[in-house]
Amino acid sequence: MNKNLLKSLPKMDELLENDKIKKVIESSMRVLVIESLREAIDYYRTGILKDKITELNNEEIVDYALEILEKKKQNKLRRVINATGTVIHTNLGRSILSKQALEAVENVAVNYNNLEYDVEAGKRGSRYSHIEELLVKITGAEAGLVVNNNAAAVMLILNTLCKDKEAIVSRGQLVEIGGSFRIPDVMAFSSAKLIEVGTTNRTHDYDYTRNINENTGVLLKVHTSNFKIMGFTEEVDLETLVKMGKEHNIPVVEDIGSGVLVDFNKYGFIPEPTVQESIKKGVDVVSFSGDKMLGGPQAGIIVGKKEYIDRMKKNQITRALRIDKMTLAALEATLKLYLDEKEAIENIPTLNMILSDKETLKQKAFRLKRKLSSKTTEFSYKVETEYSMVGGGSMPTETIEGYAVKFTCDKMTPQQIEIALRNNKTPIVVRVNNGEVILDVRTLKVEEFDIILDALVNIEKKLK
Ligand SMILES: *Cc1c(COP(=O)(O)O)cnc(C)c1O
Repeated sequence: MNKNLLKSLPKMDELLENDKIKKVIESSMRVLVIESLREAIDYYRTGILKDKITELNNEEIVDYALEILEKKKQNKLRRVINATGTVIHTNLGRSILSKQALEAVENVAVNYNNLEYDVEAGKRGSRYSHIEELLVKITGAEAGLVVNNNAAAVMLILNTLCKDKEAIVSRGQLVEIGGSFRIPDVMAFSSAKLIEVGTTNRTHDYDYTRNINENTGVLLKVHTSNFKIMGFTEEVDLETLVKMGKEHNIPVVEDIGSGVLVDFNKYGFIPEPTVQESIKKGVDVVSFSGDKMLGGPQAGIIVGKKEYIDRMKKNQITRALRIDKMTLAALEATLKLYLDEKEAIENIPTLNMILSDKETLKQKAFRLKRKLSSKTTEFSYKVETEYSMVGGGSMPTETIEGYAVKFTCDKMTPQQIEIALRNNKTPIVVRVNNGEVILDVRTLKVEEFDIILDALVNIEKKLK
């Protein structure tokens, strides 16, 4: 170990006099700059002690401190680029918002607003009134209410309609979603008693009717969003459940999961239940997420019969589950687009990406390939058909055909490239398959192509 080198490590005061540091302190928090310098000095000290560093240069220490500072200044929650092709990516923030939603959020977030003020009457109003009319218009339901997310919605429904009573659910529908939402747990929280009926693959009418008694609170149907049971299966359909509910005067509740408001069947997809259909069939209460197929912000939407929604509005728990003004603004703007299906598909990124036509995706992939090949030489690129997923527990068995740029490099494994891209300043999340790195253009914006190019240029520089 070199003692002289250790002695010549600069002191904090000395580094604070460095021109680059003086300049950066003008625009950064002093504590962060000092913290970064200290970490940089520590790094060099450890290096010297381990004989890994054999010469010192203050400029180098300063540059390293500036690198640390840059990372400290970045928010922990930040943008990433989704090149996986999975549109509603649960780990990457589910749906991204439309321009219209963003504008609405900005407008209410940096200004005062009428969140709980009835402008016409000049007195206190309800935060729920802004959105109820739209929900009614779009879904055909009598009334509507919005809470934090669909898990909260299901909890509120059960707590209001089924507290200390029995909720009958088919065993085939006792789902877990994303690890944290499990129907039996939600039941327990809401003080509803779960009555499981039928078997995993088959549930019949009589499974329900046999179990209905004076203490039955609701008949619950849960959409098995993220898996499909195939083969010898049977579920009781909604019409039958509704009929049963009417006969026994018990509300039928449906957790439909992904809030599909557009009939995807007509665009060639396997039919997914739409909210409008369930309401039309007479389901009393339907709940769904705002940030799955609906393509809006995180929210739990409840629509249905007025008598039940009114009871939920009065439930004390609602106060604890209420949504924020920014969410409300984004949701209203998103729902407004649904008044015209064409507008919705054009402007809501989730719908737009799912329904992108193959030719457009092909052109987009070739454009990305051209851009990448024009400035990098170490990677060999090709454009090929690729299959993406909708994600978010929606349409689990459906793959959508599109296009991707796939590439390899003689000097790096695809796994190494994946790691390097993930650790880019703006992380780029890709898939690796068959020894190739895959950039699925379905979930990429054209504006993001330059970021990908820069990242690959930087990776290439390090190879030389
Ligand atoms: C996703 C999902 C939920 C949970 O919704 P969040 O909005 O994530 O709380 C509940 N039920 C079903 C059927 C789902 O698909």
